[in-house]
Amino acid sequence: MLDADFFRRWLTAAAAAVDREAERLTALDSPIGDADHGSNLQRGFAAVVAALEKEEPPTPGAVLTLAGRQLISTVGGASGPLYGTLLRRTGKALGNDAAEVTGEQLRDALRTGVEAVRTLGGAAPGDKTMVDALVPAVDALGESFAAAAAAAERGAEETTGLQARKGRASYLGERSIGHRDPGATSAALLVAALAEAAG
Ligand code: ADP
Ligand code: MG
Ligand code: MG
Repeated sequence: MLDADFFRRWLTAAAAAVDREAERLTALDSPIGDADHGSNLQRGFAAVVAALEKEEPPTPGAVLTLAGRQLISTVGGASGPLYGTLLRRTGKALGNDAAEVTGEQLRDALRTGVEAVRTLGGAAPGDKTMVDALVPAVDALGESFAAAAAAAERGAEETTGLQARKGRASYLGERSIGHRDPGATSAALLVAALAEAAG
């Protein structure tokens, strides 16, 4: 069973990974974006960690909805509302009251969250976005957290060969090919942090 502390450990590990990789994420966002992805997420996840410490939400659903709200309100870029929606909708699917959830409940809730990201951003798999890491991760989650992390990393890697069809990178058309997507790369970090929390 996964309790509020597990979800706090996930988001704290995600914040640490974003800090560690911020320069790389911003560098990836330079040729096909506006070179702010690392700093956007650093600001957002710092706010998430601060809010979790201050408010101490007691349930998995409450942890995720609070974190999602923080990302939406502190990240100016496209990734803020998208990741914010992912966490908020996943949290909402878990409900506010359950003190613990099963791995299967988390998998179903994350699937709902990823669907909400797809609805909000209009991106399908293959459009060279965070969706290319998130969809295979959720599909592999039935196997294990580690399998989900590996699938997300593979999905992020494969964005290099794709042409962007959503977000700023899509303005470049074919010139977006040959560059790894920053959002898919950060999504793989978030899934790796989930595996770390479960570890
Ligand atoms: P911005 O592009 O506004 O500066 P960021 O640099 O923080 O925002 O985030 C860029 C990332 O957001 C992209 O690499 C991509 O993965 C993701 N992204 C952008 N638009 C969409 C969309 N419509 N659907 C899904 N993901 C998107
Ligand atoms: Mg950007
Ligand atoms: Mg920007």
